[in-house]
Amino acid sequence: MQSKLPELAELQRLLRFDIPRVHHETLAQITDGPRQFPVDAVFIGSERLNVPTFLLVGGVHGVERIGSQVVLAFLNSLLHRLTWDQQLQTALESVRIVCLPVLNPVGMIHQNRGNGNGVDLMRNAPMNALDPITWPFGGQRMTRRLPWFRGALGKPLEVESQALCDLVERLCQQSPMVMALDVHSGFGSHDRLWFPMAGSRQPVPHIADYYALKKLLKRCHPHHRYLLEPQSHHYLCHGDLWDYLYLNANSRQQTLLPITLELGSWRWVKKNPLQLRSFLGMFHPIKPHRVKRVLRENLFLIEMLWRASANADQWVPKGSKRQRMHKAALRHWYQND
Ligand SMILES: [Zn+2]
Repeated sequence: MQSKLPELAELQRLLRFDIPRVHHETLAQITDGPRQFPVDAVFIGSERLNVPTFLLVGGVHGVERIGSQVVLAFLNSLLHRLTWDQQLQTALESVRIVCLPVLNPVGMIHQNRGNGNGVDLMRNAPMNALDPITWPFGGQRMTRRLPWFRGALGKPLEVESQALCDLVERLCQQSPMVMALDVHSGFGSHDRLWFPMAGSRQPVPHIADYYALKKLLKRCHPHHRYLLEPQSHHYLCHGDLWDYLYLNANSRQQTLLPITLELGSWRWVKKNPLQLRSFLGMFHPIKPHRVKRVLRENLFLIEMLWRASANADQWVPKGSKRQRMHKAALRHWYQND
């Protein structure tokens, strides 16, 4: 077990930057024996509340440290650029970027997927999948000693899950649209961008928006290698927090477009099988040059997504075009009309 978490130390260093229109909030304190760890979010850009918001989240699963590091690499770059780049300062007058690099600090300290109570935060929402899941991978209530534990039935959300839900629900109340990118690692050999649903094979109501975003990425980042697709194409799970937040926002006519960046860790393992000597190696590149490459490679995607959030009115389809895009998206991802 580590006594100090490098990712939290890096965040504390970045929080010492004194830049106009940048502030941070401690959303929760997580207890681990005698110690406490903060869950901090950094707010950058417009202080007006009714502007589009881009939310960048990392460290939901404690073993997926590279996700936190991707968020911190972007935050580091953005804060340094803000000290001199006047065009960037102007662009950020009409959008808000919120970075939450370490949602699950105790899981990260102990190198566990779940939090200090052994709960998998992405199985913790109070909702069941609508279609059959693969047990125990899709969430289980049997024991906290196995991964993918949902928490006991009827118990309140874990503190970390509640902190994320409170933040997202506040942003959705304030902003005309919220796009969220939640960075994970560990599935397959490709970098995937997953959108809801995770608990149903039914198409998400905002599928036209995701299809428009796919086209936007193809045109503006033409050599990217991300696969943008519904999460349900790969597996279904109970209690996905993004499904829960998306459905709640949708029922209130708020626009929330969550995306999970699932970095394909199997290729790091393939290039360096010795990684498997440690559990962390299944989820995190070990060789320093490979870590640097991951941190470098994802910056432009994040840049594209916050700018797409800021300018959503320019590309989100409306009216009859929206209907056409909806049908095209169904053909593309679900082979039907
Ligand atoms: Zn994960």
